Amino acid sequence: MTALPTTSVGSLPKPDDLVKARSKAAKGGLAPAELRTLEEKATREWIGFQEQIGIDVLVDGEQYRGDMATYFAENLEGMAVSGLVRSYGNRYYKKPIVVGEIRRKAPISVDWFRFAQGLTEKPVKGMITGPYTMMDWSFDEHYGSREETAMAFARILHEEARDLEAAGATIVQVDEPALSARADELPLVVRAVGAVTKGLKAKTILHTCYGNYDEIFSYLNRLPVDQLDLEMSNSGLDLLERFAQEPLRKEIAFGVVDVHSHVVEPKEVVVERIERALQVFGPQKLTIDPDCGLKTRTVDEAKGKLRVLVDATRAVKAAHGIR
Ligand SMILES: [Zn+2]
Repeated sequence: MTALPTTSVGSLPKPDDLVKARSKAAKGGLAPAELRTLEEKATREWIGFQEQIGIDVLVDGEQYRGDMATYFAENLEGMAVSGLVRSYGNRYYKKPIVVGEIRRKAPISVDWFRFAQGLTEKPVKGMITGPYTMMDWSFDEHYGSREETAMAFARILHEEARDLEAAGATIVQVDEPALSARADELPLVVRAVGAVTKGLKAKTILHTCYGNYDEIFSYLNRLPVDQLDLEMSNSGLDLLERFAQEPLRKEIAFGVVDVHSHVVEPKEVVVERIERALQVFGPQKLTIDPDCGLKTRTVDEAKGKLRVLVDATRAVKAAHGIR
């Protein structure tokens, strides 16, 4: 792998025709096979775009997923999905419910991984919604404790990770946006994620975001993965100073574009962020990516942000003679 590689976190926006098709399919107005055709087309387009701009590690873009937790819940035995639940403000989502012992009917994400990896010579990441987030975002009506529920998810997600590896995934990412939900449960996060990554030969990544990093900072080195993927730009890179004092003993994927802003950052701004990251992390341990999944942006905004990220990384590599 090249030094200072580029990647993206996971989700990418769906094109308009796919958004419309999904809503039609949800109401029974479109056959699953027709929806699948559009999902494959959108995946092919995103893989093509990533190759065209020269991203090093690709994602399938999750064109077939709605919510990241609900997607896994819908494909598990022992789980149901609620009607719409209100989260913050006027945002509504469907909440997973644990109604019995959790089991996989079949591999969940492997088929899509194979499809995406079949379209490119470059590595595509296998993507799993983490056991702690699955637990934290679900109602539990079966296990009776948060710990047991998280560990039950960890067992089946370990099987999923093994299957991704067997299908050829050299990188497996565990998404844990809920990581810092409760500081007193960080030891549980470490145990649950460890149960997922145990024994894997693939490079393992943990992505988190929206967090109070101050509370979780002392746990970052304990998380049982090879690389941490962190939202850095939305908080003005303020975590860098702490890393300068307390070194990270892992690789880091460093977010250099804000996924909450419509504005595509100017190249100079992204170059400066990468330069600052390079003052703390060596190019062999540093990956450049957006803060988080780009699915809430428009297709054009997401493409703009990925383009500027790759251009800025190229400029920095040239300036430092990094290959
Ligand atoms: Zn995220």
